[in-house]
Amino acid sequence: MAVTDHVDLNGFMEGVKKRNPHQPEFVQAVQEVAEDIFEFMEDKEEYHSQQILRRIAEPDRVVSFRVCWEDDAGNIRVQRGWRVQNNNAIGPYKGGIRFHPSVTESVLKFLAFEQTFKNALTGLPMGGGKGGSNFNPKGKSVREIMRFCQSFMTELYRHIGADIDVPAGDIGVGGREIGFMFGQYKRITNNFTGVLTGKGLEWGGSLIRTEATGYGAVYFLANMLATKDEDLVGKTAVISGSGNVATHAAEKIVQLGGKVLTLSDSGGFIHDPDGITQEKINWVKEHKTHRRGRIEEYVEAFPSATFHAGKTPWGVPCDVALPCATQNELLGEDAKTLVANGCRAVSEGANMPTDLDGVHTFKHAKILYAPGKASNAGGVAVSGLEMSQNSERRSWKEDELQQMLKDIMSGIHDSCIRYGDQGGGYIDYVKGANIAGFKKVADAMLAFGVV
Ligand code: NDP
Repeated sequence: MAVTDHVDLNGFMEGVKKRNPHQPEFVQAVQEVAEDIFEFMEDKEEYHSQQILRRIAEPDRVVSFRVCWEDDAGNIRVQRGWRVQNNNAIGPYKGGIRFHPSVTESVLKFLAFEQTFKNALTGLPMGGGKGGSNFNPKGKSVREIMRFCQSFMTELYRHIGADIDVPAGDIGVGGREIGFMFGQYKRITNNFTGVLTGKGLEWGGSLIRTEATGYGAVYFLANMLATKDEDLVGKTAVISGSGNVATHAAEKIVQLGGKVLTLSDSGGFIHDPDGITQEKINWVKEHKTHRRGRIEEYVEAFPSATFHAGKTPWGVPCDVALPCATQNELLGEDAKTLVANGCRAVSEGANMPTDLDGVHTFKHAKILYAPGKASNAGGVAVSGLEMSQNSERRSWKEDELQQMLKDIMSGIHDSCIRYGDQGGGYIDYVKGANIAGFKKVADAMLAFGVV
């Protein structure tokens, strides 16, 4: 059959929409990848005839389950849990667990789909998965969180394993929650194995896993700036979020000589024109993670700052921007504002924080723009290294891991250039990341035949 006889991009996307009704985030993620892959596949008959993209855009399986737990007042609460195992062509499924009221099957399918390409980009043998629950940890006691995590794992344990599927943390799931889930896994299976990453250092965790996503996003940003013979010294940065990824991105920007102007949470953003120093970042980490406070309280501790309720920080003029909170937090109009204000580079710490309009705006303006699947891959990369250390039953040193993280981020940057160089000094990092990630997974799938 001639290549031209195959369904075109629009026809393909019609099918995706029809098969996934009411799943806008998943459709959006597939669209973003399909736009580049259709162009790449134009003269590659085998990818078409073997329906490779169609197969990657259909998760291997979606497990959905009930999670019952008892709150401190003795009420029985019922939540929904999921694990989406998208693709294991190049290694065991790997991807985080998210606890947030906005979690739906659509959100987890989009994240598992993106994760498949991201994990391929790291060069490590990991497939793509994602899981979570609509459980809201905010306002819950530690005991309630523990009971929820135990109940969640009581079902999840039968679907995961060190060589099957290795979850990690994500929004609402940090070291404490991983501890509760690992404890329950071990209790049920009597098996001490590397079934989760993001573990504590005393029980199989890896150094720099906590910092890796934020640090990696800044290393990627530095790699992009280097293509223009620039670095971060003296550059102003606007960052959204105030969780794990945002605070560590801020920390690395400061270490590399930049000035961080903003952080945010779901209540609004703070703008500190004096710069958010390491001391202030430490305060935010303590305040948000351990005291579970709100970012607006920053202005009481540091009166040089202002709080902007219900707003995102994209209107603050800056040299570089790092969206590090959540999906679709940077819309088309925000992207236009950033470009108009002279922002030269955007490195996504979050997954799909920029909507399709925003992506098109950045591409059109030809600024340095890294999609999360490339720039935030540092976290899963160090998770992959945690898996290797668990298999070998040893721990690598911090400086070894820092160097590996830097090398992996540079390797991803090189892959983006290989497939995204558009000539005239412009690199389309979205296209580069999509094609490099797709090709690796697709070629493995071709080797396996129709399975
Ligand atoms: P955390 O739970 O540590 O922090 C999330 C932050 O985002 C909080 O500041 C939270 O504010 C804010 N936030 C959540 N929802 C919204 C919203 N609707 N509007 C505005 N702010 C919001 O999560 P992480 O830092 O781990 O994750 C952040 C992003 O990075 C996610 O997209 C995640 O998928 C991605 N990521 C994380 C990795 C990791 O290693 N942790 C790896 C790769 C990607 P509030 O406190 O008010 O809820």
